[in-house]
Amino acid sequence: MMGSNCHVVRCPTCHHSDRNFGQDAYDQLDVIGIDEAQFFEDLYDFCHDVADHEGKTVIVAGLDGDYLRRSFGSVLDIIPLADSVTKLSARCEICGKRAFFTLRKTEETQTELIGGADVYMPVCRQHYVTGQVAVEAARMVLESQKVQCSSCV
Ligand SMILES: [Zn+2]
Repeated sequence: MMGSNCHVVRCPTCHHSDRNFGQDAYDQLDVIGIDEAQFFEDLYDFCHDVADHEGKTVIVAGLDGDYLRRSFGSVLDIIPLADSVTKLSARCEICGKRAFFTLRKTEETQTELIGGADVYMPVCRQHYVTGQVAVEAARMVLESQKVQCSSCV
């Protein structure tokens, strides 16, 4: 795929890609790849416009669910637009089975928390469920210690 006609452009939102890239160069593109698609707010409109009206092939990669297995961004919204969908998996870090879920190892609760292996780990269904119980128990212990510490002061 890499070659003289392969260009990579980073853009904060999809619809800015033609501005960052230049209209002539953008018009010559056949394929547009989007990674981390869960973070693009204009994903649906962009994919709809460029695939249907500009004749581009759009390849989208992203998380379908967050660490609580809730729909993440607009990734699930674009499935009706797609020719095909492939759900990928990793390997469970605990048992090695196929991992479809992400376990957050910290007590942070905001949906968008950028991090790597220090914050997230791929897990199978069994270890997602047992891991969530362990993370929740740890969170409750930490919060009870905060209460105790603040009452000690
Ligand atoms: Zn496992």
